[in-house]
Amino acid sequence: MAVDGKDTQKPHVAVLSSPGMGHVTPLLELAKRLVVDLGFQVSFLAITTDAPPAQLQLLNNNPTLPSDLHVIHLPHVDMSSNDSIAIRILQIVRESLRLLPSVLTNLNSHKPPPKALIVDPFCAEALETASDHSIPTYLFLTASASFLALTIYFPTLHAEVKGDYGKIKERVFLPGCMPLWVDDLLPDVLVPEVLPLCNRFPLVKGIFVNTWEELEPVPLCAFKNHPFFVNLPMPTVHPIGPLTKDKEVDVESELLTWLDKQPCDSVVYLSFGSGGTLSAEQMVELAHGLELSGKRFLWVARPPGADGASGSFFEVGGDVSLTASYLPDGFLERTRGAGLVTATWAPQVAVLSHPSVCGFVTHCGWNSVMESVVHGVEMVAWPLYAEQKMNARALVEMGVAVRPEAGEEGVVGRAEVERVVRLVVEGEEGKEMRGRVRKMQQSAVEALGGGGSSGGCLSRLGKEWRDGSTG
Ligand code: UDP
Repeated sequence: MAVDGKDTQKPHVAVLSSPGMGHVTPLLELAKRLVVDLGFQVSFLAITTDAPPAQLQLLNNNPTLPSDLHVIHLPHVDMSSNDSIAIRILQIVRESLRLLPSVLTNLNSHKPPPKALIVDPFCAEALETASDHSIPTYLFLTASASFLALTIYFPTLHAEVKGDYGKIKERVFLPGCMPLWVDDLLPDVLVPEVLPLCNRFPLVKGIFVNTWEELEPVPLCAFKNHPFFVNLPMPTVHPIGPLTKDKEVDVESELLTWLDKQPCDSVVYLSFGSGGTLSAEQMVELAHGLELSGKRFLWVARPPGADGASGSFFEVGGDVSLTASYLPDGFLERTRGAGLVTATWAPQVAVLSHPSVCGFVTHCGWNSVMESVVHGVEMVAWPLYAEQKMNARALVEMGVAVRPEAGEEGVVGRAEVERVVRLVVEGEEGKEMRGRVRKMQQSAVEALGGGGSSGGCLSRLGKEWRDGSTG
């Protein structure tokens, strides 16, 4: 029976996502799984203040959303700020969440009320409100299990060095996990702003993480067995990944038509996530390197960033008209036919799943990494900000990515770009990386299946929610 578009029989779960493609995408995929595979109805609470056009497209009139997934936009809040991305997202979320109590009261009045609220880390302030409304909460960490281990360990580390992260010598030794290099974590990852999230871990019933047992066995095993994690007042960690976007449908894309005409395994795709931008000098070196390699390429080449490496986070997918002004003179003409450049956005999953694509130059955002693995594409790891450097290192260690070396000024020169592009497309090392990433691809398929580690984890939770025994 349906009331207000909602089914009164199906169990109900609410999901709350902060702005940004990197969060909305995996939370939406989880919501779809709950609806399609487990028979739930989901209220998806979306914060759309300053949301980039690509995010709005994902949430509005998206033909892949099932009918029992109800997107509810939280009212727009007035924000103007010149702060960093992370701080700006936190400010938008904080303002938007002032309205959460009335939204949850409203959801609770529906039949049936939500069995759980799942939030991403930027929305951690919602946890107390949900608890006031007697709704059990879960956190969905949309990054790796290693990153989760670091986040859980963070208060201990913070206390040890008294907040002076510069004191840490070379590596952070996480209990039961591979050590992390401090250079990969500064300045973005080791920041005191993480502490309020860490303090809230005991409030949640469980933590979802977008990974799977076979990809990150070491930290996942540490959560279950290492005394440090076992003795913390901490909820169970549930690896439920890889949850990635479906292949984009109904996109009339010149890019896909062009890819159709290229030989199998011949094109390198370059994209730096929803917000990544390169410096003007780096754009020029990258362009020259692509040209020197003589290989085919498809490049999402945003205008160079005045705001640093994450400069276009709030504009992605918008109508930025391509100007050749930031690429070397004559580059577009000389590479016409062999390469295609877009200034804004590519249907990334459709691109990565295209048979002509054989390598991905990526900023190593966790969603991009998951999408590359799920489609069996080896990577050139080009991290820019957030926890991307630690992801890049892990991918190189797993043998599925190569990392170009930057020169003294931090710019990767054209000869180095040429080397890594050739290596991926035609080198022996590239073939070996492809073999390894395709094995990972297979293990991802198995993990998500009914009998797999992640599929099983979700089904168990679904059953607990259905039976009312949340835990
Ligand atoms: N994306 C896309 N087209 C682009 C750039 C990005 O579809 O041109 C999508 C990509 O498929 C991924 C998300 O945006 O799902 C980016 O998330 P990720 O975690 O990789 O990086 P972030 O943008 O959060 O840094």
